[in-house]
Amino acid sequence: MHTSLQPIFDTVLRRNPGESEFHQAAHEVLHSLGAVVEKHPEYLSLAAIERLCEPERQIIFRVPWVDDSGQVQINRAYRVEFNSSLGPYKGGMRFHPTVNSGIIKFLGFEQTFKNALTGMPIGGGKGGSDFDPKGRSDLEIMRFCQSLMTELYRHIGEYTDVPAGDIGVGEREIGYLFGQFRRITNRFEAGVLTGKGLAYGGSMVRTEATGYGLVFFVREMLAVRGIDLGSKSVVVSGSGNVAIHAAEKAQALGATVIGMSDSSGYIEDREGIDIALMKQIKLTDGLRISEYAEQRSSARYVEDGNVWEISTDIALPCATQNELDEDSARALVAGGVVAVAEGANMPCTPAAVRIFTEGNVLFGPGKAANAGGVATSALEMQQNASRDSWDFAYTEHKLDEIMSGIHERCAAAAEQYGTPGDYVAGANIAGFVRVAEAMRAQGV
Ligand code: GLU
Repeated sequence: MHTSLQPIFDTVLRRNPGESEFHQAAHEVLHSLGAVVEKHPEYLSLAAIERLCEPERQIIFRVPWVDDSGQVQINRAYRVEFNSSLGPYKGGMRFHPTVNSGIIKFLGFEQTFKNALTGMPIGGGKGGSDFDPKGRSDLEIMRFCQSLMTELYRHIGEYTDVPAGDIGVGEREIGYLFGQFRRITNRFEAGVLTGKGLAYGGSMVRTEATGYGLVFFVREMLAVRGIDLGSKSVVVSGSGNVAIHAAEKAQALGATVIGMSDSSGYIEDREGIDIALMKQIKLTDGLRISEYAEQRSSARYVEDGNVWEISTDIALPCATQNELDEDSARALVAGGVVAVAEGANMPCTPAAVRIFTEGNVLFGPGKAANAGGVATSALEMQQNASRDSWDFAYTEHKLDEIMSGIHERCAAAAEQYGTPGDYVAGANIAGFVRVAEAMRAQGV
């Protein structure tokens, strides 16, 4: 790390003790920004980098709710409002038992750069709760969402902070959150949340956007080396919303998706994933991925297996942070992987990223490659502001253009700062410069 940036990193460590995921995300960005402060030392006197590492506001609150047996349950919820220089805070809510302050902070930090890279008018934020939706009834989910919004509503708004979904939060949860916001405030403020249902202000393509956008980004990376996605093999980790739609678009563009996973193991299907069957099993019925192998003779299920053991041309980690480690990266490189792009946020460990870089593998970091979700949220906000709704083809075309633009910005920044082809540096630098310029213009 550039010597002038070490004190900033020391401050991050001191202010956020034990928050290892946030340290990891900040370390990667600070490492990339050495080349920027060499050229533009004024960013140091503006304390632009230190400002970006310190959230503008952090909200932590208790969420009491009553389960189906009449027992009162208590969860903790967070909203970290990281940076609003470019627009209202924007980012998802994650409901998962692993959620803590460090995870939300890392996600909010990443989100700020990601949102800047889209070129759209959105700041960065993130929230969530340690609530575990697994095994909870629909009514329990509703009561939890209502209780959470009973506190959150005072902190959000279409010009202030616009939450959306993330792991454990989809259209159903956004519906319950929106209903409670509307009831409390007596305002139909459509732009206060994104990921809404189509019936009340949602956008076409929002559900598919992160996965589709990821594949558009991969297509752009491959094109730089003159490679076509058609006929390539693809392995996708996870089988949630992002993973399934990434698989769907990869196959629509001619690739064959040969592996997917969930927390219990993975399946390999050399004939290519039957997307409709996978959607039914994982998104509709909420069953284990082993069920897929039960129903399809070309598939085999490996219990507790590591999906990255499958040799593939393209790897798309779409499960969760730090899921792909050094050993998995080595196995992928040995198996001839050409491109890796992160559908989840920070799924590759720093050691894994190093192995890909050393192996000359095209590597698309999440803050660039998975920005299609939040970009389409920003399109939803545009439609809400103009009381309009666009059709699927038009919205998808917009998403495709945005992903090409992100790829272009990353590639140009990497080139300009002396690391051509390095999308990690390019994403960090391009995202940083856009936010830093907005902060500079708006004063201290
Ligand atoms: N949770 C998604 C992300 O990590 C989407 C956020 C949003 O749509 O605001 O970018």
